[in-house]
Amino acid sequence: MNTFTLALTLLLAKHSLSASLTDWQRDPELLPNFFQGDLVNRPSIAKWRRNVISNTIYHWPNRTVFYFIENGTFDEPHLQYIRRSMHRIEKISCVKFVEASSDQKYFVNITSDEDGCHCEYIGWRNQRSRVNLGIGALDQGCFRMGSIIHELLHVLGFEHQHVAQDRDEYVRILWENISPENIINFFNNETYIGWNNYGEEYDYGSVMHYISNAFAKNMSQPTIVALKTGGSKMGQRRGLSKTDVRKLNKMYKCPGYV
Ligand SMILES: [Zn+2]
Repeated sequence: MNTFTLALTLLLAKHSLSASLTDWQRDPELLPNFFQGDLVNRPSIAKWRRNVISNTIYHWPNRTVFYFIENGTFDEPHLQYIRRSMHRIEKISCVKFVEASSDQKYFVNITSDEDGCHCEYIGWRNQRSRVNLGIGALDQGCFRMGSIIHELLHVLGFEHQHVAQDRDEYVRILWENISPENIINFFNNETYIGWNNYGEEYDYGSVMHYISNAFAKNMSQPTIVALKTGGSKMGQRRGLSKTDVRKLNKMYKCPGYV
């Protein structure tokens, strides 16, 4: 191989490497610079085995999420994706999504006012809250079905998987690779009460798990490394994992899970 061919090979290898990397800086769940990337308000309560909010005061009353999709914000194909995501959750649980009437006091307002996808509160609040889904191509960015479901699970009371209290048995956090301003997004040592994992094991395939280079200083360096098998599933956004389904059903005491 002559020098020119070698240089060309190296250049192409470098290009294909950077093109194939998952670039968290382009991931719309990680763009908005909110807590853990897409949480507008930092959760105030956490506990050992953290991941799902178990304090029932933050569960949607009557297992019913009232929502309002801002008029004129989304075209029909995007609206269909939002409704299909809600329908997927309804199909695998006893949770219902109901369009809010004009006198509904509490509901989640679905907007596309800003770039990126983010959620105002984890779980229910007795007031209007907001989820933003930045408009983009279908099956990409915030309009991957799994990304919409990810935000809806925040609404229902899920936090990110990588902050579960037992995470150090399953992943190694490479603190040195995390950009300094985002180190807080990996803390999981709060000692307040109100969270649970409902007896479910850490789940690399959860739709609430971030990609392996989330919040990295250098996108080619991982920040989360799996210690057991299944790590390749981290960051999937196709939809709910089996464990996500069980947690949601246990959380909302769906028939067969009580
Ligand atoms: Zn999130």
